[in-house]
Amino acid sequence: MKYTVRPLNGKKYYDTVDVKAIVLHTDLGVYRGTYSWLNQIEASYHLYVRRDANEIVEFVPLDKGAWHSGRYNQPNERVKELFKGKNPNRYSIGICYENGGSKAQYPTEAQKALVASFIVNNGLSHLPLIAHREIALDKPREVYAFRDGIKDLIKEVKTCDIKKFSTREVINEIIRRFSGKI
Ligand SMILES: [Zn+2]
Repeated sequence: MKYTVRPLNGKKYYDTVDVKAIVLHTDLGVYRGTYSWLNQIEASYHLYVRRDANEIVEFVPLDKGAWHSGRYNQPNERVKELFKGKNPNRYSIGICYENGGSKAQYPTEAQKALVASFIVNNGLSHLPLIAHREIALDKPREVYAFRDGIKDLIKEVKTCDIKKFSTREVINEIIRRFSGKI
């Protein structure tokens, strides 16, 4: 997996974050367009998972609060419980997958595996995974497939024999299985 640090132009984050969850997103564009669009508006993600490249791009460092989920629209019960009506950007890491075109598409297996790998290898698998649509009901429903796919892959890793194989080995095996699709 390639991990690229590519800051946005200008400061598009809060200086601190108290991470209680990972919020998952889909954008409706592609990498180049989304990067320049984010440079023009007051929004950001921590991480962006490319569609046809084995690559995660970091827009905002994980110890800052990115601007990815600042608005509520009929949040569900677990979101209310988790964030207690406060700004979710202060309490979460935002990860977005690259779409393939002009309308929302489902994430690829490779995109889900890359994020699962990132979460496990960075010791973040205890965090709840929230789809942006759980916070704002007008967001695309395709993001549920991203959330659930990542959750299943992490579960698969946890149920493997981790006495015999390290977590990293197991997740790398999952990545290898999907590598034909990257
Ligand atoms: Zn979103």
